[in-house]
Amino acid sequence: MYLYLKCGKLDEAMILFEGMETVSLITWNAMMAGHAQIMALANDDAAARQNGLEALNLFLKLTRSGTKPDFFSLSSILSVCSSLVALEQGEQIHAQALKSGYLSDVVLSSALVNMYNKCGCIENASKAFIEMPNRTLISWTSMITGFSQHGRFREAIELFEDMRLAGVKPNQVTFVGVLSACSHAGLVQEANYYFEMMINEYRIKPVLDHFACIVDMFVRLGKLEDAFEFINKIGFEPNEIIWSILVAGCRSHGNLDLGFYAAEQLLKLRPKSIETYVLLLNMYISAERWLDVAKVRKVMKEENIGTLRDRSWVTVKDKVHFFRADDRSHSQSNEIYILLESLIERAKGLGYVPYKSIDMSSDEEEKASGSALHHSERVAVAFGLLNLPEGAPVRVVKNITMCRDCHSCVKFFSLLTGREIVVRDSKRLHRFRDGQCSCGDFSALL
Ligand SMILES: [Zn+2]
Ligand SMILES: [Zn+2]
Repeated sequence: MYLYLKCGKLDEAMILFEGMETVSLITWNAMMAGHAQIMALANDDAAARQNGLEALNLFLKLTRSGTKPDFFSLSSILSVCSSLVALEQGEQIHAQALKSGYLSDVVLSSALVNMYNKCGCIENASKAFIEMPNRTLISWTSMITGFSQHGRFREAIELFEDMRLAGVKPNQVTFVGVLSACSHAGLVQEANYYFEMMINEYRIKPVLDHFACIVDMFVRLGKLEDAFEFINKIGFEPNEIIWSILVAGCRSHGNLDLGFYAAEQLLKLRPKSIETYVLLLNMYISAERWLDVAKVRKVMKEENIGTLRDRSWVTVKDKVHFFRADDRSHSQSNEIYILLESLIERAKGLGYVPYKSIDMSSDEEEKASGSALHHSERVAVAFGLLNLPEGAPVRVVKNITMCRDCHSCVKFFSLLTGREIVVRDSKRLHRFRDGQCSCGDFSALL
């Protein structure tokens, strides 16, 4: 069984596992870790999800079998909960860890902080972080990034300073956290200060993520020229991600000349990611530049860019529910769409204007559509609103980046329902509350 697990052959390992008369805790752990690892490495999100769910299932069977999980089982299953944004299960693991006294284990308590951050529960994450007996670099970094993603920029920066005071050396990822906090808060001076500190004091060579934070900051402030200047100054050849930020920013700020210029540079790179093409298509469609739309389509064909699969999921009472765009397969479909339509109508009354965007679920002739289209996260949010207890936050995971239309829609949903809605997409965490989002809007949206 270990041999099969090592080779990533889970089905074969599972057959042997199920044939065993007595299973030791070590074997249970190996089996769960096997699934968790395949999940972490999977390129395909459907495969990742499947393995994550299988790991959760194994854990359930383990506890039912009367075997007591150890800190290894608990921390590996916590990482699965983080990836699936399965908060309920994560909280159960927390309770078990507390009872068994394993919270003093630094790996487990780090996993706990990470789980709460990934699930969008910043208060619980912060509490778990404070209670940690020893803080690791990973947990400091996770908490700094968590504060930053939740729009608590000052706390992110303060925590970074606390970490330095505690004598812990930040790494590349920690600096991404603190720089993104500066970027979101529009703190140009602080961003420069930390950028310099990273290079001069800690001798860390900036990588793309750091450059992206700085470019993103200028873009958020509407200082598009400064963004271009920064790129030129550092002599860094912008890649797909940087140009995408510029395109999205120019679109948000209505600076179309620069936007079209950036879009052209981006297209020249012959990007590989389908999300980049969707961004370009959306930009040209909203400007009604049909010749450019055709041009993007042509490159997509030549580069053999496939279909964008739009999927979201939400956990309700231990069960994960999956949705596609315009999904009507769920047994509660009727209720879901009645709620969606009524929310959208009410949102329009409050000033919501749909953005034109392409139907991401089809790579046929694009349909420039208005509000008729429901991307998967809207369906998942509506399902969550219907099925989660009154007042409970709705937590949705989406496999690709949110589009700006859904982003604006969900902001209105949070306002209209008074509920907190968290959407973790492929790029970042969005925490919607009272009609606002923690990402501050100028994030990389499609
Ligand atoms: Zn959308
Ligand atoms: Zn957002």
